[in-house]
Amino acid sequence: MPPATKSKKPEQVFNCRSGSRLRLSARLLAWYDIHRRVLPWRAAKGKRADPYEVWLSEIMLQQTTVQAVGAYYRKFQDEVLAAWAGLGYYARARNLYAAAKLVAHQMGGKFPATAETLRALPGVGGYTAGAIAAIAYDEKQAAMDANAERVIARLYAVDTPMPRAKSELHALGSALVPDRAGDFVQALMDLGSAICTPKRPACPNCPWTDDCRARKLGIQEQLPVKAPKVARPLKRGAAFVARDRSGAVLLVKRPDKGLLASMLEPPLGAWSEKFPSPAQALKQAPFEAAWKKRPGIVRHGFTHFELEIEVYVAEVAKRPTYLCHPRPSTAKAARGEGDPGRQKRCGPESLGSLPSARETRASPGMTKWVKAGDLHSVALPTVMRKIVEHGLDGP
Ligand code: SF4
Repeated sequence: MPPATKSKKPEQVFNCRSGSRLRLSARLLAWYDIHRRVLPWRAAKGKRADPYEVWLSEIMLQQTTVQAVGAYYRKFQDEVLAAWAGLGYYARARNLYAAAKLVAHQMGGKFPATAETLRALPGVGGYTAGAIAAIAYDEKQAAMDANAERVIARLYAVDTPMPRAKSELHALGSALVPDRAGDFVQALMDLGSAICTPKRPACPNCPWTDDCRARKLGIQEQLPVKAPKVARPLKRGAAFVARDRSGAVLLVKRPDKGLLASMLEPPLGAWSEKFPSPAQALKQAPFEAAWKKRPGIVRHGFTHFELEIEVYVAEVAKRPTYLCHPRPSTAKAARGEGDPGRQKRCGPESLGSLPSARETRASPGMTKWVKAGDLHSVALPTVMRKIVEHGLDGP
């Protein structure tokens, strides 16, 4: 926690002479004109940005860094989900598609041009609408991403903990937006990314170094104040990496709703607080085989929970026609939470017999056998890729 300071409340800042706000905006824009980053979706200096490109990049950037997005942006057009695999937060890809259809069929092909109308598009919230409206149309909107919030929290020494400080920071940031709104919001993002970094900000190089309240108080690295961390629950389970003689790996499609919807995964058992014993795990296997547990654990952090997976591997002479891989039938199960029915339906007692209601035909739409070298070209999210790689890593 930073030492108690008195941050300026929005109304105090609004009461500041507009001349000082204009001076702050002008300093930042002058810095931006020299130091602006070159990004694949950013218009050349002095040129108006294409709304489609801004929209696409802003959706891709949600909860992701500029560095991670650059390469993905270039190959986006081909296959949305496959190209997106590894970037995370896959609902964004589906939202882009839904929004494109909405614009084409219900908006006469005309892309919305104000923050208010942009919010009607699936996946476009307050921040994204503000960013597109400002960058593509120069509407006076603030676009307060984490970088911008950090800079404004420091400029005005706002010590209200996040996320409670968000509305205060948005009001402070909005009050600074000048006529060149698009350049201003991008300048704020660039300043946060290149100069006003979370650790060791380069204050001497900052256009606001003379105005910054946190720098004057020497508390810049302590702002914004983070909310105390809440421990994320830990879930554990087993995954099954099956490989045929050609080296192809069995993947199955996840349900269309819920966590990592419609993406691919190796067959997984239920997730609970404890790992299943080897005997319990084998009851969750997709088919009977000489499953062997691979040493080690795959760990992955989701937004709301941590996941640990033990990986069982098997090599099969013939691809099975029927899989005991029931799709979760409830939203809870789709999230990977305990699904006793899933375990029951996967018992080895049902294997080796004729297909029954407890088995699922390994339909081409639901399953895929993918060569290890082609895993990068299918919609395999990062966590599932880690599991497959762990299964393939070894004799
Ligand atoms: S002076 Fe330092 S802390 Fe203040 S806005 Fe600039 S880089 Fe950030």
